[in-house]
Amino acid sequence: MADFDIVVIGGGIVGLSTAMQLSRRFPGIAIAVLEKEPILAGHQTGRNSGVIHAGVYYEPGSLKAQFCRQGSAATMRFCKEHGIPFEQRGKLLVATRADELPRMEKLHERALANGLLVHHVSKEELVEREPHVTGCGALFVPASGIVDYGRITRHMGTNLTDAGGTIMTSADVRDISEQHDSVEIVLNDGILLRARHVVACAGMNADRLARLCGLAADLAIIPFRGEYFRLGSNRNRIVEHLIYPIPDPSLPFLGVHLTPMIDGFVTVGPNAVLAFARNGYRFGDVSSNDLWEMARFRGFRRMIIDNMRSGLTEIANSLSRRRYLALCQRYCPELELTDLHPHPAGIRAQAVNRDGRLLHDFLIERTARTIHVLNAPSPAATSALPIGRHITDIAGAHFNYS
Ligand SMILES: Cc1cc2nc3c(=O)[nH]c(=O)nc-3n(C[C@H](O)[C@H](O)[C@H](O)COP(=O)(O)OP(=O)(O)OC[C@H]3O[C@@H](n4cnc5c(N)ncnc54)[C@H](O)[C@@H]3O)c2cc1C
Repeated sequence: MADFDIVVIGGGIVGLSTAMQLSRRFPGIAIAVLEKEPILAGHQTGRNSGVIHAGVYYEPGSLKAQFCRQGSAATMRFCKEHGIPFEQRGKLLVATRADELPRMEKLHERALANGLLVHHVSKEELVEREPHVTGCGALFVPASGIVDYGRITRHMGTNLTDAGGTIMTSADVRDISEQHDSVEIVLNDGILLRARHVVACAGMNADRLARLCGLAADLAIIPFRGEYFRLGSNRNRIVEHLIYPIPDPSLPFLGVHLTPMIDGFVTVGPNAVLAFARNGYRFGDVSSNDLWEMARFRGFRRMIIDNMRSGLTEIANSLSRRRYLALCQRYCPELELTDLHPHPAGIRAQAVNRDGRLLHDFLIERTARTIHVLNAPSPAATSALPIGRHITDIAGAHFNYS
């Protein structure tokens, strides 16, 4: 006999969205979420920019493009239904140099291809809208918003438990083994659970759990720390919109941005620095185990060689507050070193393949009894509701729940 019909591993927004939607679609089945930390949303979900992305950047037709667009509307609907504060502030993508204008045009075309409403903003209009921001032009994306994703996740958890589901925190999954009629799950304290099916939404440990089920042989999760600063409360009204640079199209990271947070303050960040531990929230955090695992992976070594220059620049910007400030001053020149106060970092779980390529799109794979979310970086918080719906569809089609 199985203890649960479906066990979801991971108490971030993707795991909770999935568990909540499984419980709604298949009422009566026994669902449990296992989270290794004592709280929900302790990693990526609770340590991000809190932006409800509209879906400008992503390859048309990709899962990211589809799910982000659907997800931004679904997130705002969920917030309205549950009384969770959010604000649709709109985003300005600012070209700070003339040579960024062609890339801005490409971004405009991509936004249109993704079916988004986007306006050009001239240099003069930019100053009218945002007196503290300078640039030679911008794109305005009205649909972008801000929210607290940790709060959304906890509401999803309440929906799940109200529907009879179970959430077990401090439950670290150490081993999974797929049998012909069930999946055995071993927890940190040696407890053995049995489930008919497993959905793994384990963020930073996605590859390790997938390998236990025979998947992910040719990719690894590489941790990229995103460091932030918080501006002092005298700067709370320095911007009205979310202010973003024009990103480098070859990288899945969006560049240091100026973001009003839903709690009233403004952050700058995040950069993207290779972390030396999967939970390496500070520069000095090093895990010899994680480093050795990365070094043995061919794709990691290739990635380092191919991105040596940008990687070293990120490290230099991370070590020097003055260099970090210079990135922000490109579009907000009045910021000074004294404006930058410490703010917790986040770490992106980024899948890299054997060729050293950072995977841009979301990646979800399955075995006979398990489904694994293998790559869910930004904008997976925005996209969590459609991702959960997609996984629920897979479970309905292949695991015979109805
Ligand atoms: C710096 C930064 C900024 C970002 N900004 C945005 C943004 O503005 N907008 C946006 O849409 N997205 C943003 N993202 C991306 C977004 O936060 C993530 O894509 C999203 O939170 C992923 O959710 P998740 O549930 O997959 O992962 P997580 O939130 O990391 O959850 C995975 C959970 O699995 C648990 N787990 C792992 N291994 C085990 C195990 N063995 N047993 C039990 N539990 C386990 C972990 O403890 C964790 O709680 C950002 C990410 C970062 C890092």
